[in-house]
Amino acid sequence: MQINKLTVSGFRNYREQTLEFDSVCNVIHGENAQGKTNLLEAMVYLSCGKSPRTRSDRELISFDRQQATLRGEIFSRGREFVTEITLQAGRRRKMTVNGVTAKNSAELSDVMHTVFFCPEDLFLIREGAAARRRFMDVSLCQLRPRYAEALAEYHRLYEHKTRILRDSEENPGLLRMLPDFNERMCQVGAVLIHCRARYCRSLQSFAGTAHADCSGGREELSLRYETVKTVTDPFGSMEHITQELRDHQESHYPAEISSRLCLSGPHKDDFLVEINGLNARQFCSQGQVRTAALSLKLADREIHRGAVGEYPVMLLDDVLSELDPRRQEYVLNRISGGQVFITCCENDRLDRLQSGKLFHIQNGEVME
Ligand code: ATP
Ligand code: MG
Repeated sequence: MQINKLTVSGFRNYREQTLEFDSVCNVIHGENAQGKTNLLEAMVYLSCGKSPRTRSDRELISFDRQQATLRGEIFSRGREFVTEITLQAGRRRKMTVNGVTAKNSAELSDVMHTVFFCPEDLFLIREGAAARRRFMDVSLCQLRPRYAEALAEYHRLYEHKTRILRDSEENPGLLRMLPDFNERMCQVGAVLIHCRARYCRSLQSFAGTAHADCSGGREELSLRYETVKTVTDPFGSMEHITQELRDHQESHYPAEISSRLCLSGPHKDDFLVEINGLNARQFCSQGQVRTAALSLKLADREIHRGAVGEYPVMLLDDVLSELDPRRQEYVLNRISGGQVFITCCENDRLDRLQSGKLFHIQNGEVME
C-alpha cells in the first residue's frame, strides 16, 4: 500500500502543491511551522476522512480560501486508485474514489490505511482514558466499516441523550424518549465492545512481542480491555453483551436522572497497560512509557497488515528526535516493509535513511 502522488490545494498553509513520493522512504524536513505536519495530516485525511488534529474541517481550509482539495494517487491491493476530497466552507465535503462518489469515510479506508505517530502519542499511556479510546477508535474505524458506522451512531445517540437529560429539568416530558435511546445505545454499544475486545487482544499479542524486543527481553507488557462492569465476557455473543448493557443501564437509571449525565455505556472504555505487572500509567518510568507507546503503534501497524494483507502507510511526525538512539534504531529496523514518511527538523539527523526521497519544506512550498 503506497501513496505515489499527492496534490494539495488551499489546504492549511499550502497553496498548490504536487508531490511524487518514493515507494519506501520519504523524509520531510524543514524548520518549525513550515507545513511538515500539515502534509502528513493531508495523507491521514485521504485515508479516513478525519484529521488527527481537529474535528473541524473548516480549520483545514487555508485562511484566505473557501475551498481545499486533496488528491492522492494510491497503489493498493495490486491496483491504482485516485482518491479526491473537496472541503468547502459551510457546505458538505465531496469525496470520490476513481471518480465515483464515496458515501462515507469507510470507502476511503478501503483504499488506503495510515498509521500516524506523533510526539503526543509517546504519552498515550500516561493520559486519561479518552486518549486510549481514541487510539482504538481511529484504528478500528479504518479496519472495519461496520465499526465506523456504529461509532458514529453511538456518538449521535450519546449527544442526544445528554441533551435530553440536561433539558429534562425544565421539560420532564422529554424523559419519555429515553427508553428508546437507551435500547439503541445498548445494541450499538455491544458492537463497539465486540470489536474493541478483539482489537485489544491482537494489540496485546503484537505489542507484547515488540516491547519485549525493544527492552532486550527485560520487560513484559500486557494489556487488558476495560469496559462496562456488568459485561462478563466481551468475546461472548452480541445478544448477551446487549443484555448485560441493559442491566447496567437499568441499575444506573436513577443516578442518570439525578445527575443528568449519561453514566452507562462503553463511552468510558479504556485499556489498562501493565509492564512487569505494574500499572504503567502510575508506576512506570518515562522510558518505559515511551517504549510501550512505540510498541502499541508498531502493533497497530501489524494488525492493519494482518487485516489487509499489506502494510499501511506509516507516518512518523517528529518522533525520532524524541527517542534515544537505541529506540530510533529499533523503529527504523521495524518499519522496513512498507512505505514510510518521516518528518524532522534538521536534515542531518537521518543519514541512515537517505536511500529514499528527501523533501525540504519552507512556508508551504516543497523542494525535492
Ligand atoms: P513543527 O516543526 O513545529 O511541528 P510543522 O512544519 O509541522 O512545524 P505545521 O503544523 O505543518 O508545521 O504547519 C503549521 C503552519 O501552518 C502554521 O504556521 C500555521 O499558522 C499554518 N496553518 C495552520 N492552519 C492553517 C490554515 N487553515 N490556513 C493557513 N495556514 C495554516
Ligand atoms: Mg509538526
